[in-house]
Amino acid sequence: MNTIILKGKSVSLKIKDELLSKIKDLESKGITPSLAAIIVGNNPASKLYVSSKAKAFSKLGCHSEVFELPLDTKKEILIESINKLNKNEKFHGILLQLPLPKHLNEKEILKMISPKKDVDGLHPENQGYIMQGDPQFIPCTPFGCLQILDYYNIDIEGKDVVVVGRSNLVGKPIASLLSQNFSYGNATVTLCHTRTKNLELYTKKADIIIAAVGVPNLIKKDMIKEGVHIIDVGINRIDDKSKEKGYRVVGDVDFDNVLGKAGSITPVPGGVGVMTVTMLLSNTVQAAINQSL
Ligand code: NAP
Repeated sequence: MNTIILKGKSVSLKIKDELLSKIKDLESKGITPSLAAIIVGNNPASKLYVSSKAKAFSKLGCHSEVFELPLDTKKEILIESINKLNKNEKFHGILLQLPLPKHLNEKEILKMISPKKDVDGLHPENQGYIMQGDPQFIPCTPFGCLQILDYYNIDIEGKDVVVVGRSNLVGKPIASLLSQNFSYGNATVTLCHTRTKNLELYTKKADIIIAAVGVPNLIKKDMIKEGVHIIDVGINRIDDKSKEKGYRVVGDVDFDNVLGKAGSITPVPGGVGVMTVTMLLSNTVQAAINQSL
């Protein structure tokens, strides 16, 4: 079987193209969609993510600013910064770069972001709207997965979908969205995790697999059915001395191993990751539109 490679770039370009007219429309009203990104601590990976987001924003004529706080920032100070940004009309979206240092409780802090500016879709109010089938802000990575499925015309209705991983960031929202009664839903969804006995029993039956696990190359050829569509969310570094950096990035699915058996698969890198920043842009533009009404 010829496995189709579901590249994120063409999907992202299409969405950015659609966003441009909305951005121009806002511009004509004197509004520039603006994101405030908060980073606590000095995590180089977080800084890299935020700078790539900033680049994508400026390329499309949107604005973003980074607010860096020291590693030992107290909860009260972080909450005060969030409150100030909640009130600051210049910013339509607020992103709290995760993970936070260990002394800060992520769930507690995420609740402090105004749901109207929660462009990462992690506030319990926005997660609740997803559960009710009335999504407002969808977390960027699951939103990107939906866009890929839609762009490549992968049929979802009535299909057996297996989501591996149950994080609030990816697994739970995508499982909920795909099972809802709307155009990109109506699937029969099974949500697997570390306590799932015999994972392959489920993955072998799936028409679509969404892997959001964080375990390099976990899913292999003998765990899938012929023709399955695979969305690989995983971003994992593995040692590779042949590379200049000493590592390479792989997904949760053993890409080379499943080629020829899977019907289609997103590559890592170049698949879902590309979409995450694009959907952050999309959510921020939507937040700016909502706040302009
Ligand atoms: P997470 O919060 O660590 O959650 C991982 C989930 O996978 C958990 O629910 C865990 O189960 C489950 N799991 C772990 N090992 C398993 C196994 N052997 N079998 C079955 N389930 C297993 O991770 P996340 O934030 O969702 O991220 C998942 C992956 O996606 C990571 O590689 C991350 O880097 C990547 N990611 C990529 C993007 C992107 O833009 N492409 C965005 C976000 C995340 P338990 O709940 O039982 O512990």
